[in-house]
Amino acid sequence: MPSFSHSKIGTFEACKLQYKFAYIDKIKVEAEDTIETYLGSRAHEALEKLYRDKRFEKLMTLDELLVYYNKIWEENWKDSIIIVKKDYTADNYRKMGERMLTDYYDRHKPFDKGRIIGLETQDFLPLDEQGRYKFHIRIDRLMDMGEGLYEVHDYKTGSSLSNQKELDKDRQLAMYSQWVRQNFKDFKKVRLVWHFLAFDKEMDSYRTKEELENLREKTLSQIAEIESTENFPANVSWLCDWCLYKPICPKWKHEVELEEKPENEYLNDPGLKLVDAYVKLKEKIDAYRKEAEEELDKIREALIAFCEKEGVQVVAGSENKISVKTYETIKLPGKNTKERAELIETLKKLGRLEDVSSFNTYALAKILDKKEWDKGELEQLERFWTAEKNYRLTVSKK
Ligand code: SF4
Repeated sequence: MPSFSHSKIGTFEACKLQYKFAYIDKIKVEAEDTIETYLGSRAHEALEKLYRDKRFEKLMTLDELLVYYNKIWEENWKDSIIIVKKDYTADNYRKMGERMLTDYYDRHKPFDKGRIIGLETQDFLPLDEQGRYKFHIRIDRLMDMGEGLYEVHDYKTGSSLSNQKELDKDRQLAMYSQWVRQNFKDFKKVRLVWHFLAFDKEMDSYRTKEELENLREKTLSQIAEIESTENFPANVSWLCDWCLYKPICPKWKHEVELEEKPENEYLNDPGLKLVDAYVKLKEKIDAYRKEAEEELDKIREALIAFCEKEGVQVVAGSENKISVKTYETIKLPGKNTKERAELIETLKKLGRLEDVSSFNTYALAKILDKKEWDKGELEQLERFWTAEKNYRLTVSKK
């Protein structure tokens, strides 16, 4: 039974190429964690220990919690861990983790609300009746609050704070909510709780049965899309800085290789030379074209003024002459205006719309490319088109 998780579907949504590298080609990368995931793992482990001890009626003091956190930080540390934000050191991140745990501890001590029934709970939630697909469940902390109320707790160590609207639509914890409903028949309500540790903020949300059913259907249709996808284009975004496949991604491979070269080799790189030459020449052409067009506009205005002043329609040069014609054009209502809609309706009524509307090959090519119509319809059109390789060069700042 293929299994999907929140992060697997999220990867497909964020970048299809990254999804292919990770889940289809299953490429193992040498690179280590980023500092953000490293901090997240250590903070999760420290909180797991806090609650595990609590289950055994042993309450860690804040000092003990911080000593444990620093111990696992040291034990697991590798110098190859990636720090993207160069203004901050590993120690800045370690201290940030200490502050998160201190705030959390002070806010929730003595941790005696409800009964802990799961820590880092792992299971699978079947998504369809035939049992073809399942969703990976991993709950940071599951609590039984009594009288049928369950709480699913999730710790977030990232530096962005979600808003309520985003949490009310969150897929991950909603799926966990469904899992609780299926596994604890005495449930009456499931409270989904996010702890945004960097902000010392606790936020929550609930899901109705209908919302969960809609989510299940939506997730199944996303899975169907994933399974039928044949093209996996790269999607460059701010997330690329945290992507472990950057050194093999065609959007970044060359830049990563250049960064690793010493300066003398770097400047001799053939790709770098080509880009520099291309940009230099293009900038020169663009500047010349702009200047020439402005000059041409001025001469054009002067020629029109000359014709009007002298009462002539053709002006002679040394080897050429220019004819200046005055003519009127018909101006029709612009796109998306009420008048335009009325005009189209009138043409339809007159049976004349076909005479003046042209076949939009651009729109059809887009539909064929994105496979937006039914398979049968697309098959009937297949003999009319061929795939042509084109190149578009776009210059941007690094
Ligand atoms: S580096 Fe960016 S574009 Fe390339 S695979 Fe990773 S996320 Fe996608």
